Amino acid sequence: MYGSTRNSRRVFILQLTAAGGSAFALGAQAQTAKLDEKDAQASALGYAADTTKVDAKKYPKHTKDQKCSGCQLYSGKAADASGPCSIFPGKHVAANGWCSAWVKKAG
Ligand code: SF4
Repeated sequence: MYGSTRNSRRVFILQLTAAGGSAFALGAQAQTAKLDEKDAQASALGYAADTTKVDAKKYPKHTKDQKCSGCQLYSGKAADASGPCSIFPGKHVAANGWCSAWVKKAG
């Protein structure tokens, strides 16, 4: 009797550990890497994670109200600090970021 209780407790703990492990793996998967400004394609397009830090001399048409969150190519949710951009697959761009491919979101 005692032995079987101990065994089921052990199985329960093993199951908890396994469940915890999967939750951790899911959490790690859900976290998409942020686009690095130094990434070759990002820097070629003048990407800045903060639209207020864009080089005005290099990009005279840029205005501070142009942000990834207002770009046609951005598909993040309004409340999120970052989200996917179709130009940079597999990475998240900052909602307050900008690059020279910025296109005003329709609507
Ligand atoms: Fe941001 Fe648009 Fe440039 Fe993507 S294309 S990085 S959403 S400004």
